[in-house]
Amino acid sequence: MVAKIIDGKQVSAGIRLECKARVAKLAARGIVPGLAVILVGSSPASAVYVRNKIRACADVGIRSLRYDFPDNVEPDLVIDLVEELNRRTDVHGILVQLPLPPQLPVTRVLRTISADKDVDGFHLYNVGGLVLGDTVFPPCTPYGVMKLLEHEGISVEGKNVVVVGASNIVGKPMALMLMQRDATVCICHAKTRDLAQFTILADILVVADGQPNLILPQMVRTGAVVIDVGINRLPDGRLVGDVDFEGVRQKASYLTPVPGGVGPMTVTMLLGNTVSLAERSQDGGRAPRPEVRSDAAPMTAAVS
Ligand code: NAP
Repeated sequence: MVAKIIDGKQVSAGIRLECKARVAKLAARGIVPGLAVILVGSSPASAVYVRNKIRACADVGIRSLRYDFPDNVEPDLVIDLVEELNRRTDVHGILVQLPLPPQLPVTRVLRTISADKDVDGFHLYNVGGLVLGDTVFPPCTPYGVMKLLEHEGISVEGKNVVVVGASNIVGKPMALMLMQRDATVCICHAKTRDLAQFTILADILVVADGQPNLILPQMVRTGAVVIDVGINRLPDGRLVGDVDFEGVRQKASYLTPVPGGVGPMTVTMLLGNTVSLAERSQDGGRAPRPEVRSDAAPMTAAVS
């Protein structure tokens, strides 16, 4: 078996076209969606992510406002800015690029963002909504994974899904979204003993960890769907995921590449969430929130 490679760039391009059309509809009513992006510190990786997000906003007609702070900024300055952005009617979404430098209280900063402008879905209110199975602004990376599965017609209902990684921004919301779609979910983390005994049971394996070659072919069930969220830069400069791509490709039914798989989807879901927030701001909160529950066609992948 050789896996079908899921082209995140192509799926992403289709969703961006839809975003453009929605932005044009808003423009006809005199509304330009606005996204505020706050970057604290000098991490080169964060700077690249922020640049990509701002470029993507421009591509679909979202106005972005970028705010930069040094590593040693006083937390109150960041909090004050978030509070000011909460009040501005031309700002529909607020994003604080993570990770923050250690002296900044990440929970306090994220909770200061109004739940109605919480484009990343990290506010306690939106996290709670996800836990309860309510519709929320879904965190962009796991939301992008759901869209990739949906696009390929891979239903998760009743499937064994193993999520490797239990972070607040990827692993946990991923697991919750999969549960909402009636998957049987197992979450693995750094203290999981014998990771392979769990991954080998997965019909769908989602890996969000941050270690190259964490997942080897012998850890994957023949015919499994493998989604590689990890992004790692090797000493020779190459970007790779957490999965042994060439090895697992010979065994899985579907596989996402790095780069070009989940990464483009994350940015695209951010654009979609920003447009949804702008639409909702005009409709007094009545416009529908992004749909996490929509059901995909039955899973077509052969799982032995
Ligand atoms: P993180 O906060 O560092 O979380 C990593 C998770 O992996 C933790 O839950 C950790 O467990 C778990 N873990 C560590 N070693 C493990 C092991 N040997 N077996 C099983 N689990 C293990 O990272 P993150 O923010 O979730 O990101 C994960 C990866 O995804 C990174 O490579 C990041 O760059 C990438 N990422 C990609 C995108 C994208 O758009 N493609 C977006 C976000 C993140 P503990 O909880 O026990 O420590």
